Amino acid sequence: MPIKLSVERQTNVGRLCKITEWGTFSDETDIQTPAYLTYTRFGHIPHITWDVAENELSLKQKQIYQLTLASFFEALEAIEKTATYEGVASFCCMPLNSIRHLSLHDPLAKIPEGFNNNKSMAIWSGKAGRRSIEPENFIKILKTCKPHSFTTLWDYDTPFNVQKKRHGKSFYRSSEWDMALFEKNHTIFEEPGFLPLAGGISKESRIAFAKYFGPKPYANGFLIDLYHFSHGENIQNKSEFEADIVSDLISDVTLLIQQDVPRLVEGAFDPYQILCLVKNGCDLFDSSYTVLLAEKGIGFNVAEDYAKTGTFSVVDFTEEKNKTDMTPLCSRCSCYTCKTFKRAYLHHLIACKEMLGFTLLIIHNMTEFDRMFEMIRAHLAQ
Ligand SMILES: [Zn+2]
Repeated sequence: MPIKLSVERQTNVGRLCKITEWGTFSDETDIQTPAYLTYTRFGHIPHITWDVAENELSLKQKQIYQLTLASFFEALEAIEKTATYEGVASFCCMPLNSIRHLSLHDPLAKIPEGFNNNKSMAIWSGKAGRRSIEPENFIKILKTCKPHSFTTLWDYDTPFNVQKKRHGKSFYRSSEWDMALFEKNHTIFEEPGFLPLAGGISKESRIAFAKYFGPKPYANGFLIDLYHFSHGENIQNKSEFEADIVSDLISDVTLLIQQDVPRLVEGAFDPYQILCLVKNGCDLFDSSYTVLLAEKGIGFNVAEDYAKTGTFSVVDFTEEKNKTDMTPLCSRCSCYTCKTFKRAYLHHLIACKEMLGFTLLIIHNMTEFDRMFEMIRAHLAQ
């Protein structure tokens, strides 16, 4: 079953699309993009309960939850044993009326290099360390997890410092795994797969990926792999996110692929970077940035002219200046945190490492992230 996407407007600041069907998710869907997948870790939005997520976050659109395989890999056996209809969602008590997409990495966890091989892709699972996924066991994992869509296997090991030969190997492995998953077994997938458009900082390699994966009839989504540009703390050999470089890398790629297919970028990107990626035709992101900041004791606000300029600011609650500040985190925000608490109290909670501090920052950051995407969509519609 596909993801049905129609391009409503294509401008030089991005494209506005509408999604009316999402894979095996049976309810009616009406999602406008640019939009985001709500990041989860171990099947939860970190630091808040599902009850709070459902009742306190008044988010604008139907949620697409991003299941991060690396974060709950160790529970797969237990999930399989429960053998319930909704897989990982029932196991983690997730709201069952929402869409679930399975991503392989946890964008905020360790993604070291050098552990993929010709047979398998490596992911890093909490304290348990490395886990290798071969195409055959990935099919089994999908059956256990029961997502509505998934990101497929790819060899992501191409940071900025690798040689041309390594790019060739990454392309070869990714296409071999694709062959094993889709060309030999494509009839078994009901869920749409997001195919990789990788290649690190090699434009040549990015174009090779686009030419190979772009026209595939089973491409129901594309993952534009920019993990090495992400803010994720534990990604080795990161590249600086320079808007011109990233734009040069992906602009030709988006021309070579099918247009009525969503383009996802996984990883923690700040508001300015997200706007740059929207300009380059990206449709979907994940909300891991909100958690990355909250866990450092930081809240963020986008400026009123954000959709034009990409301007945003951060409030770091580890800084002394917030200790006696009796204003809210954001005076125009109507989230529970901003309506109820002052900056001084948030500073106190963060200083004491009280869990409530992270909870309140997640509530605000998620609300602001959601508002930010609404501003982007409104700007594109003008
Ligand atoms: Zn707020």
